[in-house]
Amino acid sequence: MGRVFLLSIGNELLSGRTVDTNAAWISGQLAERGIPTVGILTVPDEIADTVESLRLAVSKSDIVIVTGGLGPTDDDLTRQSLAQYLGVELQFHPELFESIAAFFRRRNFTMVDKNRIQAYLPIGTEAISNSSGTAPGIFARKDHARIFCLPGVPSEMKIMFNDFVLPRIIHSAGRQFVISRRLKCFGTGESMIAEKIGDMMLRGRNPLINCTVSDGVITLHIVATAPDSSVAETLIRKDQTVLCEMLGDWVYGTDDQTLAEVVGYHLARTGKTIAVAESCTGGLIAKMLTDIPGSSRYFAYGWVTYGNQAKQSELGVDPALLNKYGAVSEPVVRAMAEGALRKSGADFAVAVSGIAGPEGGTEQKPVGLVYIGVATPDQTMVHESRFSNSRPVIRHRAALTALNLIRLQIRG
Ligand code: AMP
Ligand code: MG
Repeated sequence: MGRVFLLSIGNELLSGRTVDTNAAWISGQLAERGIPTVGILTVPDEIADTVESLRLAVSKSDIVIVTGGLGPTDDDLTRQSLAQYLGVELQFHPELFESIAAFFRRRNFTMVDKNRIQAYLPIGTEAISNSSGTAPGIFARKDHARIFCLPGVPSEMKIMFNDFVLPRIIHSAGRQFVISRRLKCFGTGESMIAEKIGDMMLRGRNPLINCTVSDGVITLHIVATAPDSSVAETLIRKDQTVLCEMLGDWVYGTDDQTLAEVVGYHLARTGKTIAVAESCTGGLIAKMLTDIPGSSRYFAYGWVTYGNQAKQSELGVDPALLNKYGAVSEPVVRAMAEGALRKSGADFAVAVSGIAGPEGGTEQKPVGLVYIGVATPDQTMVHESRFSNSRPVIRHRAALTALNLIRLQIRG
């Protein structure tokens, strides 16, 4: 009941030339409405493969959405495959032919014989009109399942999905409400999170909890299913409270919130300001903070003090410290943060210095070593991180870690 299987058809998807954005977009649209996608399959432009994949999709779901393979060229075979799967012939539809011809006339293009194939539908199926292209979609029924075939071109597919497919799916999605919430965590690994929350991640549980990781941010997806939306919402709230208690400071926000947004929120809420002195992140933290609308209320100063000279002249770092410990060191980052606080008069200052690589690492100071200092008028705390991976990843992770340290500091 309301389970969707997606088939993405096209050799270009299998060779990596084209990324399958259609399946990602459709499954996202469905998820937002609580309709589960139970499978996504990428299929070559071959009739036998397409027929087999239709069989599989219908065995796993009751709604199949196919994209691609409806074009006029000989490599587009969804129409023929669907007819074979349904065990029927293709039938010419003069009214479809006329609407394709009209589309060409409006554009002042010549219609060629090849386009004639797009006016054929498997017997017993229905055309899905396409206002922005030549290829009509096809709507078919087979046993318990409904099959929607849409063109591969993303812009055409999206309009037809919204206008034709979605209303029909939502109408019959049954009486189950599916609501989801995301809890965003930072500062630990996914295995630690999984360890902490234990049985809550058991499969088959309601709410179902899934875990994904991206750029060091761990997202717990809480998905509740219930006969009415308020029951689902209550289930989610209960899990959210328990998870927040279990995970404590690792949880920084919900849904689409970013660390920079949360930092900005706390600064604005408390009427405090911040200054940033960056070396290896080269302005990334300042960028992330000022990406947030309204950040002028709290973002006071930003320096990119990449060279030692800048660290001295702009932030007042003692050259003796730089000589003795080097730019990537606890004492220098402490002095950078304190200098930034003093020069800006802000309530918080954050400073970063590290080795982003790929060159410049030594045994004592390997690539990925990053010091982050957070200064307030009362204290300065310096955090040492050892990141791995490439230069962009190290810089990005360093910026997020700095934002996270500020968040913890602001919250007190
Ligand atoms: P088709 O309907 O198979 O003729 O596809 C037309 C064009 O749409 C292809 O050449 C691709 O550029 C694009 N396309 C097809 N399938 C996808 C997909 N799953 N994701 C993104 N683009 C696609
Ligand atoms: Mg194609």
